[in-house]
Amino acid sequence: MSTTPEAADKPAKPLPDLADAVTAPFWAATREGRLTVPRCTSCGYRLWPPEALCPQCQHAEFAWEEVEPAGTLWSYATYHRALDPAFADELPYVVGLVELTCGLKMYGLMRGDPADLVIGRPVTALFEPVDDEVTFVRWKAAADG
Ligand SMILES: [Zn+2]
Repeated sequence: MSTTPEAADKPAKPLPDLADAVTAPFWAATREGRLTVPRCTSCGYRLWPPEALCPQCQHAEFAWEEVEPAGTLWSYATYHRALDPAFADELPYVVGLVELTCGLKMYGLMRGDPADLVIGRPVTALFEPVDDEVTFVRWKAAADG
């Protein structure tokens, strides 16, 4: 492993496939600063992550509902090795599992002071645009006090 990587050799970070019909509504909403999740139009089951078929009834149509971009920190892990080399420049980074106020759980990169990472603490979503098309959802725990 090289200890002096050059910027030109840096691998590109992966971006979502915006043409994927299963997840496209999610990315359209994050572009507008909204957090949405799919709900089966047949049985009403709400799921995350999105799937092509409802895991409860195999129906293939979903309505996307806006949910509160907030929840509590359910768990987290600090990464000291990048699983994808493209993220090596962000080490160490923290991946959190957030329990949304609607009850679903969502993984995401955590921002802010690591000292604020306390299980059960309130977290809110941050919408971080990468470009004109892609906006990622990151999470930030409430500050202590
Ligand atoms: Zn269903």
